[in-house]
Amino acid sequence: MQIKAAVAFEPNSPLVIETLELDGPKAGEVLIDLKATGVCHTDGLAMTGTGPGAALPQVLGHEGAGVVADVGPGVTSVKPGDHVIPLYAPECGTCSNCVSGRTNVCIGNTMAPMKGLMKDRTTRLRLGNQPIHHFFGTSTFAEMTVVPENAVAKINPEAPFDSVCAIGCAVTTGVGAAIYVADIRPGGSAAIFGLGGIGLNAIQGARIAGAETIVGIDINSDREGIARQLGMTHFINAKSEQDVVGAIKSVTNGGADTCFECTGVAAVLGQAIRASNMFWGHTLAIGVASPTDVIPVAAVELVMGRKIEGLYFGGAKGRTDVPKIVDMYMSGDIQIDPLITHRMPLEEINTAFDLMHRGEAIRSVIVMD
Ligand SMILES: [Zn+2]
Ligand SMILES: [Zn+2]
Repeated sequence: MQIKAAVAFEPNSPLVIETLELDGPKAGEVLIDLKATGVCHTDGLAMTGTGPGAALPQVLGHEGAGVVADVGPGVTSVKPGDHVIPLYAPECGTCSNCVSGRTNVCIGNTMAPMKGLMKDRTTRLRLGNQPIHHFFGTSTFAEMTVVPENAVAKINPEAPFDSVCAIGCAVTTGVGAAIYVADIRPGGSAAIFGLGGIGLNAIQGARIAGAETIVGIDINSDREGIARQLGMTHFINAKSEQDVVGAIKSVTNGGADTCFECTGVAAVLGQAIRASNMFWGHTLAIGVASPTDVIPVAAVELVMGRKIEGLYFGGAKGRTDVPKIVDMYMSGDIQIDPLITHRMPLEEINTAFDLMHRGEAIRSVIVMD
């Protein structure tokens, strides 16, 4: 079938709207009629041709929501008409990682999606005779996409696509970190570094988990208002504050119980570790740093018990937890709408990236017509 999609052809170039050929779903695959998709920093990174999952030319996008249009042979867990969120973090339930009970990172698709391919090492997308790569197994900057069955979360059909699409990445990454990975205790403290789409969601996750002191750190004071609305109690502007670590310690009784690093800057991760409680401080490394970045922290800082933990997709199991987070939104426990600052059609997707790079958008959502 023919679909309209935004294609990344060359590094550091705007996306191009093209009509592509999309093959129907093969065995174990699902065709999704996409209704909305968020625009995320990771897509911007892939546009440089070097970020995780980059394999140009490709259709980017990993924060979508839509309706199942067709299923391939053997698919039993979803059917046409089901409302779904495609998952870059699949959950097959049978691979060695899934059965270990030790990680939410499924390797059932042999990591082929990280190379821009389906599990059979081919693509379903073409421009003429040229194969176009998938991205993260989702490729949501398109009218339709084909994904593995294990990468589809069936959600509440009442949920609005143009809000819950953000649960496909930013919301789950931030909220999940707080409720699935952090050990936040009632009355505890949390410090969130970077108040973008993920950090703001970590704030609401920390609030839900019972944190009483929630410190937000950013270089952009424009984020203070929305962060307070979501539960932040103290704001530190990292541009004007000379001693960020000291400022956090002074409002958290010597160091935060949990620090969330959401910027992807290793130097900030170092700050987060030093700003955590010396004995039980737990620092979550959420932001994706460049491969050559190392954490500037003296080893002795860990000696009394501080912990650092990396995590993927908020520690959430895609098929199990994403529907629950959609329900948290539907019941009003978490807010998404204040985070979606812009909505636009696919044709204007490059504007969404401009807004993101200028720090003017928290989340832009592309709404398919
Ligand atoms: Zn993302
Ligand atoms: Zn698995």
